[in-house]
Amino acid sequence: MSPPSSGGTHVVQILNILEGYPISEYGHNSAKTIHLMAEAMKRAYADRSRYLGDEDFVKVPLKGLTSKKYAEVLRKEIDPEKATPSATIAPNNPLPYESNETTHFSIVDKFGNAVSNTYTINVKSGDAKTEKKQVKVNIIDGGGRTLMPGLIEGHGHLQMNGTSLADIENNRNWEELATRTYAKAHAALMSGFTTWRDAGGMGAGLKKSIDAGVVDGPRIYPSGAFIGPTGSHADFRNFTTPNETVYGANSAGSRLGMTFTADSVDMIKTGARQNYMQGATQIKIMSSGGVASAFDPWQLDAYSAEEIQAAVEVANAYGSYVMSHAYSKKSIIRCLENGVKSLEHAFMFDGDVAKLMEEKGAYMTTNMHAFSPELGKIEAISSSPASARKAATAQAAFGNFVENVNKYQPKFVFQADCVGGVESCTKQMDHEIFLSAKFLGNHFALKSMTSVAGELVAMSGDVLNPYYDGPLGVVEEGAYADLLLVDGNPLEDITVIGGSEKWFDAPPRDGIETMRVIMKDGRIYKNTL
Ligand SMILES: [Zn+2]
Repeated sequence: MSPPSSGGTHVVQILNILEGYPISEYGHNSAKTIHLMAEAMKRAYADRSRYLGDEDFVKVPLKGLTSKKYAEVLRKEIDPEKATPSATIAPNNPLPYESNETTHFSIVDKFGNAVSNTYTINVKSGDAKTEKKQVKVNIIDGGGRTLMPGLIEGHGHLQMNGTSLADIENNRNWEELATRTYAKAHAALMSGFTTWRDAGGMGAGLKKSIDAGVVDGPRIYPSGAFIGPTGSHADFRNFTTPNETVYGANSAGSRLGMTFTADSVDMIKTGARQNYMQGATQIKIMSSGGVASAFDPWQLDAYSAEEIQAAVEVANAYGSYVMSHAYSKKSIIRCLENGVKSLEHAFMFDGDVAKLMEEKGAYMTTNMHAFSPELGKIEAISSSPASARKAATAQAAFGNFVENVNKYQPKFVFQADCVGGVESCTKQMDHEIFLSAKFLGNHFALKSMTSVAGELVAMSGDVLNPYYDGPLGVVEEGAYADLLLVDGNPLEDITVIGGSEKWFDAPPRDGIETMRVIMKDGRIYKNTL
């Protein structure tokens, strides 16, 4: 076994000590901050001189050194006003704090600090309260690789897996949809996506089967049926299907719980309640038009303020939130002003939107492939001349998006938004990862797939969040053990987590070679070490 990296150990130790102070209040590089950093470092380095070494010869009390309780002890020695003379600082005793089960090394912490380090991680199976008993643990030697949180898809559609919306509506019966949905979920997990917020088109059926261990897949946050008015982005009918508000559910989309046509405040409330009853963790509405759908211009302002409020009212009653498909600035602003917490696509994001988002505590998720010259090759678009035309005008209108996101740094979450089967969606997700990093930077992109996305899914609330025991998207004490171990450093090279410069021309792949370990909830789904 290789020795623990002393740098990593003490970075964690120092950060643990500093965690107890309101550093952000003191300010970056203020005298007080620098004083506390120096004091924390002196104590960590004193410990290093005694406890770190080759494990063949010494027992390194790694758990003690990196324990929060031990940091508390060291913090008590620090005088916030006065420097401690180095000569009086001796190594302390981390040994009594060896009982923590998990060493925590993050590549990006929840405040955006990048810390890249790997050693070993012990994951306990069983109840956290059984600490004193003999418990079964897996010990993995990280061997200098990067340990990071499992990835989170912020806006995907597992059940949207035909070549186009018309194909899903007309050619796929429930069993084909179900089996293809499972295949997509499994492929996502094996690409490192341990959590998936489904942005509409499915209830909680597959989620329940995954959670019960019947099949393997990511944790799913389903939105239930898309809710939208007649002729909207949520309307999958063909031209000859009768109107559903007047004649009832006649499309496969609505019969199978994928779409819910709602043309009034009352119907929207019914749709939202129906979704929650079916196990949705949040509600998805279509407040503007889209590109891949047949009847709606993307500029369409589909829902009024009252209608948006109706969805928000039901969501709030469940302690949850509303996500809304919104392209145009008008629709984005209207959503924010009426309680929507998650903007989907939000292509006309700018300074006004950024300000309002911050005021309201809102998040956004955007598919960066919308800016690719290859967008028109997506089958759902290329198979429909109307969609192809819409895609072209949309791209022209969203020209400043990337610049604005880089400038205003909103709470931004990754989305690949793939409508298609396993092979095409794997390619699209890989390319989306690449584009996110290329346009927004590796650090920002990684946060959007992990910690920020973890905050977003947790907005489903204390009552409805199915995974409420700890945070997702971070590596820290008390967080879910959804972890990846990868060769290389994704902060420098996004391809190590699957990012691919090629989209349609990428060769089909079977897993990601550099992703050596995939763990969800402490269970290993892949280990090629
Ligand atoms: Zn979508």
